[in-house]
Amino acid sequence: MKKTKFENWCDRIEFPWWSFGNPSLDPTKHRDIRELLEKAHALGKNINETNVTINPDNRLSFPEYAMALARVSAMRSEDPYRKVGAVAFDKDNRVIGTAYNGLPSGFTAPEGFWTDRERRRKYMIHAEVNLCSLFKRGDAKMIAVTTMPCNSCMGTIAAYGIEKIYYGEDYHMSGKSCRVSESPEIAELFGIELIKL
Ligand SMILES: [Zn+2]
Repeated sequence: MKKTKFENWCDRIEFPWWSFGNPSLDPTKHRDIRELLEKAHALGKNINETNVTINPDNRLSFPEYAMALARVSAMRSEDPYRKVGAVAFDKDNRVIGTAYNGLPSGFTAPEGFWTDRERRRKYMIHAEVNLCSLFKRGDAKMIAVTTMPCNSCMGTIAAYGIEKIYYGEDYHMSGKSCRVSESPEIAELFGIELIKL
């Protein structure tokens, strides 16, 4: 059976929590969306069982909440090849801001820009950099990013005094799983907690 655009999207991000609470995805009006929500619920339960915190009152832990917000933010990215979202929390677990990868705000890509996957790379502003532009050093204690930060972004994160990073996936390239980021080593040296969620 041919998948809908929405299903393909869910498959790609492998984490459809963001579909909850979106009024345009009213499950009573979309049969396929309802099935997806059930799938998302099962996945959410699975994540609760295997990850950092199991909440007795069955609500998202702060890391899970952060990652869900990061997933939603990734949806705003116009990059057709890689969509990364990020969120920053302050010391009281309040949201400072959300961000995603892309071109400078207000800039419109020239025609054909997105057709060359390799060429676009050097122009892309990573989600973590956009995120750090929203606050000053010391404001953010924890961030969540949908993909493990690259080496360069780890430097930015360290410069902004962020103490803890939750990330979703390792970096994948050419369809196979290979770690191209040395973030764990950088995090360890700088005393930043880097936790896969
Ligand atoms: Zn980066």
